[in-house]
Amino acid sequence: MKELVEKLYSGQDLSDSELAELINDRDDETAELLRIRADEVRQRYYGKKVFLRGLIEVSSHCKNDCLYCGIRRSNRDADRYRLDREMILSCCENGYSLGFRTFVMQGGEDSFFTDELMCSIISEIREKYPDCAITLSLGERSRESYRLMKEAGADRYLLRHETASPELYRRLHPAEMSLDNRIRCLFDLKELGYQVGSGFMVGAPFQTTEDLVTDLRFLQKLQPQMIGIGPFVPHHSTPFAEEKGGTLELTLRLLGILRLMFPKVLLPATTALGTIHPMGREMGLKTGCNVVMPNLSPVDVRKKYDLYDNKICTGEEAAECRHCLDRRIVSAGYEVASERGDCADFTI
Ligand code: SF4
Repeated sequence: MKELVEKLYSGQDLSDSELAELINDRDDETAELLRIRADEVRQRYYGKKVFLRGLIEVSSHCKNDCLYCGIRRSNRDADRYRLDREMILSCCENGYSLGFRTFVMQGGEDSFFTDELMCSIISEIREKYPDCAITLSLGERSRESYRLMKEAGADRYLLRHETASPELYRRLHPAEMSLDNRIRCLFDLKELGYQVGSGFMVGAPFQTTEDLVTDLRFLQKLQPQMIGIGPFVPHHSTPFAEEKGGTLELTLRLLGILRLMFPKVLLPATTALGTIHPMGREMGLKTGCNVVMPNLSPVDVRKKYDLYDNKICTGEEAAECRHCLDRRIVSAGYEVASERGDCADFTI
């Protein structure tokens, strides 16, 4: 199996069956070699730098009903909130003073945030913080909406495809949602000049190794600047409440594979990884990850952005969250970068 790691390291690709073999492997020595090679590749392009993204969770309202999500519209127990313009701007102000140079506005698909409102918030942030990157993560919207927000000053857009396998997509989403539309959104975003982040869930219910290979192939077609993957973590008020979550081992294995397949990509050590293991994010950093996303949302709404059970970092102020992550990054042997942190493959 170690030969497959070396082959992926030198050639950035494997056949479908080889990828499946590597994903299914459970040998500790292979896992360690994969980790070493992934770290070597990330250091070649990014040194020891870890980029920070200040996450602002703008709304827990969502018109969609993804079966795995705690803020899906049918969850009547969800405590809903949305931030207004002043609150969002105050998060940015706080974040800027704490050293953040990327703001990520993330939320469910909430029609309250019209193009007009979003564009005016984006323009204001752009004007006040010309040295910062503005990232959006607001789900599926029209090409025209993406165009207007780009024109207003947005730089990046995160939209996980979650699964590129049509059959699995149907089992994880209600009938009115379509994988084709999500793919359309992602290619629209790329064509419009956004730096794009996509990604998938690891260990989702019904997911097979072949589905994961399909995800890797889809990402090769899309060539996003960032790839966010995280273990599936069940939420108690969803139809998947009783399902098993994704494992640390498989998530780390896929992170290592992604780093070798996409050497220059931005790869976050996600909150979900930190949720399933206390040292999950540190292990992610050591396996090729180079981004973390501390939370800048006001503390009183944190718990309400309740995507999955036991989500970490719901009780800390932004400054605490930032310092805790700084310590974790340094203790893992890396350094906090105080810059926008664009993808090594992307020139603006
Ligand atoms: S996963 Fe996203 S789109 Fe789906 S219900 Fe949750 S917030 Fe809405």
